[in-house]
Amino acid sequence: MPKQRSESVNDKCALCSKATGDNWLACEICGDWHHAKCLQLSEEAYKVLQNLDSCHWFCKPCNEKVGKMIPTLVGLQERIATTEKTVSKLENDMEKTNGQIIKIKSDVGKTSNDLNAFKSEMDKHLTKTNFENRINKLELEFQKLSSDVKHTLIALTSDGVLKIGQIRRSVSC
Ligand SMILES: [Zn+2]
Ligand SMILES: [Zn+2]
Repeated sequence: MPKQRSESVNDKCALCSKATGDNWLACEICGDWHHAKCLQLSEEAYKVLQNLDSCHWFCKPCNEKVGKMIPTLVGLQERIATTEKTVSKLENDMEKTNGQIIKIKSDVGKTSNDLNAFKSEMDKHLTKTNFENRINKLELEFQKLSSDVKHTLIALTSDGVLKIGQIRRSVSC
């Protein structure tokens, strides 16, 4: 319902610039006062406007602005709806990406476990190889030693046989 003009209001009519007269209408956007007569509004139409609770009145310049604002508002609403869709899609994508990251992390963890198991297996193998190498080395040393002993024994024996021969010869002479 357009506001009623009280006695304390001395604003001039935006159309005829007079402050006196009856049947005033104030624009609900700019607040400017207008004579119903200057708006070419009949007495009956003015009364209907005054008595309708859901009735709003805007002056001509404000009405034009409102007319331009409505398509802008509709456009904004559409943009908001599109943005909301995009945001919910992004949220979905982010959830999926998070899931993938968690899977990759667990895969990396598994691979790291496998690597550790492989490493400890390699370590065991390497230790075994080292041990085998040492045994081989010892065997070689032992073979060398036993062949040395054998040679020494042969030398000693042949030396002994020679000496016994000499002794026999000197005795029989
Ligand atoms: Zn007027
Ligand atoms: Zn206005």
